[in-house]
Amino acid sequence: SPPQGYYTRRGGVGESGDFITSPEISQVFGELIGIWYISEWIAAGKPKAFQLVELGPGRGSLTDDILRVFKQLASLLSKCDISIHLVEVSPRLSEIQAQMLTGGKVQSSPRDDAVYMKGVSKTGIPISWYRDIQDVPQGYSFYLAHEFFDALPIHKFQRTEKGWREVLVDEDPEVSDQLRFVLAPSSTPATQNFIQPEERREHVEVCPEAGVLVQRLAHRLEKDGGAALIADYGHDGTKTDTFRGFRNHKPYDVLKTPGMADLTADVDFSYLRKMTQGRTATLGPIKQREFLKNMGIDLRLQVLLQNSQDMATQEQLRHSYDMLMNPKKMGDCFNFFALLPHHRLAQPDQRENLQPRAPLVPVAGFSELSLQ
Ligand code: SAH
Repeated sequence: SPPQGYYTRRGGVGESGDFITSPEISQVFGELIGIWYISEWIAAGKPKAFQLVELGPGRGSLTDDILRVFKQLASLLSKCDISIHLVEVSPRLSEIQAQMLTGGKVQSSPRDDAVYMKGVSKTGIPISWYRDIQDVPQGYSFYLAHEFFDALPIHKFQRTEKGWREVLVDEDPEVSDQLRFVLAPSSTPATQNFIQPEERREHVEVCPEAGVLVQRLAHRLEKDGGAALIADYGHDGTKTDTFRGFRNHKPYDVLKTPGMADLTADVDFSYLRKMTQGRTATLGPIKQREFLKNMGIDLRLQVLLQNSQDMATQEQLRHSYDMLMNPKKMGDCFNFFALLPHHRLAQPDQRENLQPRAPLVPVAGFSELSLQ
């Protein structure tokens, strides 16, 4: 529950917090994501306006890097009306985001307002803060969720001889401030609602909140157009027990001192795909190192290395590249997944009102870019 949860109380993102994320490791990460949105905007025929909606922006580094790209491409975007919409439940992190993106120049609204804070970015783009995606205005939008879905609560289920049983948590009667896992003695409503009939695994984690969010995203994209990019560690419906805790960058018992550790579970992209209910097309999951390579990270690294004067900066650039790309670090376990309107991917002859042989512009990142 938000008032007592980890993010509303601690929210330990960043070097000094409990975990550090890709946008904080390297500016290149956010720059390439910014280019991804521009590329989709061009493919859509350069609509006159777009909203960039980020779910769970953490310290705001990702949007900051994206805004720098928008600024660099100002002449391309000059006729486009851009606004930023941040969905954030943590008061502490929203303050850090405001500082990062606006230099602290924000106006707070009364507590019950849908928009609880407003400001203007250092580059002149309006920013609004919300607690819930349903409060974000409708319209052509790009959505971004990086290391967001993994933070949402999950249900755990175990297959037994008597059928599926929910794994519940209660207080350990013997140790104070310690929880324990117990198997529900009989079937719970969650067991009936969240297990797919075709499920083959012995143990499953389901995040219904992620399902609801993806349904909302799919509805919005179907109605208003745009694209959603979801990046997180996860799998495509193969993993079982992934629930774990972190505190001060180290693994931490998920059942110990509730509320003090960052709890996380791998994102099940097969479940997200199912929850679009066919309203949008999906791409991925594709490994982070493949996505970033397709987006041109190698070329970007070369340019930054050439432009940097000192050895220490160059060493830092190489180190952060390795963190993002090395399969043993973040390269393999992090994945990119996209939701797109169907017409964006349909074969030309399936699209009405288009010339039969109009070429289909490939979606950047999900296939190798061919420079023609
Ligand atoms: N995207 C950032 C931070 C990830 S941490 C990065 O990559 O660095 C998760 C973020 O989601 C935090 O900002 C946290 O406060 C926020 N968050 C967690 N649960 C949320 C919810 N239910 N609604 C909105 N934001 C939430």
